[in-house]
Amino acid sequence: MSKEVRQVSRLGIMGGTFDPIHYGHLVAAEGARYEYGLEKVIFIPAGQPPHKLNIKLTEPWRRFEMTRLAVATNPYFQEMSIEIERPGPSYTIDTVLEISRLFPGAQVYFITGADAVFEILSWKRVEQLLSICKFIAATRPGYNLDEMWRKRGTLPQDFKKNVFYMEVPALAISSTDIRQRVREGRPVKYLLPETVEEYITSNNIYRD
Ligand code: NAP
Repeated sequence: MSKEVRQVSRLGIMGGTFDPIHYGHLVAAEGARYEYGLEKVIFIPAGQPPHKLNIKLTEPWRRFEMTRLAVATNPYFQEMSIEIERPGPSYTIDTVLEISRLFPGAQVYFITGADAVFEILSWKRVEQLLSICKFIAATRPGYNLDEMWRKRGTLPQDFKKNVFYMEVPALAISSTDIRQRVREGRPVKYLLPETVEEYITSNNIYRD
């Protein structure tokens, strides 16, 4: 951890593959911080996202480095490498338990994309997860809210109160689009921090 750890009562975990991190993620995290009164948001790039074990991703340490560069200018943000250091699939329950040990007494909010959150019933130890952590599901423009509410309806009644959603227009930016732009030599300026863009260029990422 690069920034000071202190006692906090409301804490956000920004979970994602971040391949690469972009302004949509940063705006979502800042929006969640403000809306939910979070004192700190910790960005935790997934080492091996459990649902992407057979998909080729950029090396975890490179995704972590891009995340570190992206959050550097926001005093409320920090990055942690716990998921890339933990062997095996990056199960969210293991991460939330570890964060809860590091920040005893903090209410943890796990922020991620709505598509991911509404698959939560298939996640490891979901009942325990929902009992110790609240979820903020970030949606992008054009996201099918009816479908989202239908999926939300499939969550156990007891847990519905722990899943919130947040519309984030800046999430029109997507990692998939950025990777394709780089591959095709099209501009990515203003879609992600310049430091991240420079890192992508100087390390020849997404060019294959
Ligand atoms: P994903 O399936 O790649 O993402 C789904 C959608 O959400 C994409 O449109 C993505 O856009 C967006 N998104 C991803 N992270 C976001 C964030 N932090 N804020 C706003 N939008 C976001 O999801 P993923 O990134 O691989 O996984 C999301 C998180 O859920 C990870 O932390 C992962 O470890 C966790 N997860 C846990 C389990 C489990 O414990 N069993 C299972 C699945 C996922 P971009 O492509 O532009 O990012």
